[in-house]
Amino acid sequence: MDKIICLGKNYLDHAKELGDAIPEKPVLFLKPPSSLVAQQNPNQNINVPWIDWGSQLHHECEAVARICKDGFRMNLTEAQQSFDALTLGLDMTLRDVQNNLKKNGHPWEMSKAFPNSAIIGTWFSKEQFPSWETEEFSLEVAGNIRQKAKASQMRMNIAQAIAYASEHFALKQGDLLFTGTPAGVAEIKSGDHAILRWGPIHYSVTWK
Ligand code: ZN
Repeated sequence: MDKIICLGKNYLDHAKELGDAIPEKPVLFLKPPSSLVAQQNPNQNINVPWIDWGSQLHHECEAVARICKDGFRMNLTEAQQSFDALTLGLDMTLRDVQNNLKKNGHPWEMSKAFPNSAIIGTWFSKEQFPSWETEEFSLEVAGNIRQKAKASQMRMNIAQAIAYASEHFALKQGDLLFTGTPAGVAEIKSGDHAILRWGPIHYSVTWK
């Protein structure tokens, strides 16, 4: 893997909850491979060591696609064929750090690219999970569903997002695309236990 590509503001309800202006196209940003923690087998709980961030650590639950072909400036048909598997992930964000960066017009990396800021479950191919576009995904924390949405509610669907990202970045086989978060982002605290569900994808994460 070369990089993790993330979309921001790809669901209108989330863009509105942050109080931001809605850009014409979603925002693009990158995370490095060192920010990734991946579930190794279907029954494994992911343990994330707690660090006193001195900051609001927010969850952003997102559908994640795996890029299976190198490409630059792909058209929509090429983009459609350039992802082969899906999982559910968390784009962890230090929200108050990000708010300060935004206010000053600075890049977002300090709020988005730290270790364990990109969390993913096990992969299912498009063939293994054919209903991925219409099946609701959800994030539960401490017994409450905090976020839920369907991939069909994205402003830019996955193929469009890959084509868009490939206008700016050279995509590499194995790259990941985090597709943006729906409404309901909120704080994770030490000891929190989260459950992520999307069709056959089902796993948990604990921070402590
Ligand atoms: Zn996000």
